[in-house]
Amino acid sequence: MLIVMRHGAPEEDIQRVAATIEEMGYQARPMPGKQRTTIGLVGNDGRVDGSRLAALPGVQEIIHVTKPYKQVSREWKAETTIVRLSGGLAVGGEEVVVMAGPCSVESEPQILEAARAVREAGATVLRAGAYKPRSSPYSFQGMGRAGRSGKPILLKRGLSATIQELLLSAEYILAEGNPNVILCERGVRGFDPATRNILDLSAIAVVHGLSHLPIIADPSHGTGHRDMVTPMARAAVAAGADGLLIEVHPSPDRALSDGAQSLYPTQFDLMMKETRLIAEAIGRRVAEPAEVQA
Ligand code: MN
Repeated sequence: MLIVMRHGAPEEDIQRVAATIEEMGYQARPMPGKQRTTIGLVGNDGRVDGSRLAALPGVQEIIHVTKPYKQVSREWKAETTIVRLSGGLAVGGEEVVVMAGPCSVESEPQILEAARAVREAGATVLRAGAYKPRSSPYSFQGMGRAGRSGKPILLKRGLSATIQELLLSAEYILAEGNPNVILCERGVRGFDPATRNILDLSAIAVVHGLSHLPIIADPSHGTGHRDMVTPMARAAVAAGADGLLIEVHPSPDRALSDGAQSLYPTQFDLMMKETRLIAEAIGRRVAEPAEVQA
């Protein structure tokens, strides 16, 4: 449920609504807007009787959100959300953000080589999993924080200035408990093998209509085959994806996980060139790495 406050409603009215929501046993999520503040009510299973809230001062309207995925829906928030990352990157705006790298962090030389390769090709975010909750508990589970050497991989050591910015995101990934990084790839997919080869790109157009959140397409896990990654990446950008998540490995044949779907660096370079053309054709552009000063 959404409680829309009147234009210019004083802070005390907003706080009173929020306090009443808490009293009723739910949680309040105030969302200040340009025109007016809206307060979301979460934590309910079914329809909530909003009459008590409707009677409070400053309340203009009560909107019942019908979607089960209410907080991500455009009913909840009409304007598109732009997610801001470090280095001035924004996901969900005009730019298409390409995130690339190996499935998992395997060693310091491997992650550094991968980072250099994807940055040279034009990726702006490095992807790499430190923890790999795989379908089988006997598969490679990732290096975790310690890694096989028994000490943390120090990504800042010995790297050139031009890739420093990109490697900072690898450091984030390795920083245990960092709330800004999603370590698990299995967010929207239930069971990995069951979702292979069913990358449905029409979902991009459908979800953009239903949700205010940006959409990142993952043609690597969505297809599971290296040869299908570039065509699906091109199609995803054409369909309106706000970003791409691409697995690239310096030596895919020796990858500890997801080697079959990992692009060789040269393939990724070509994919980037083609993706830029597609983005331009629909009035967008691919985000380019900032030049990092030595
Ligand atoms: Mn993977």
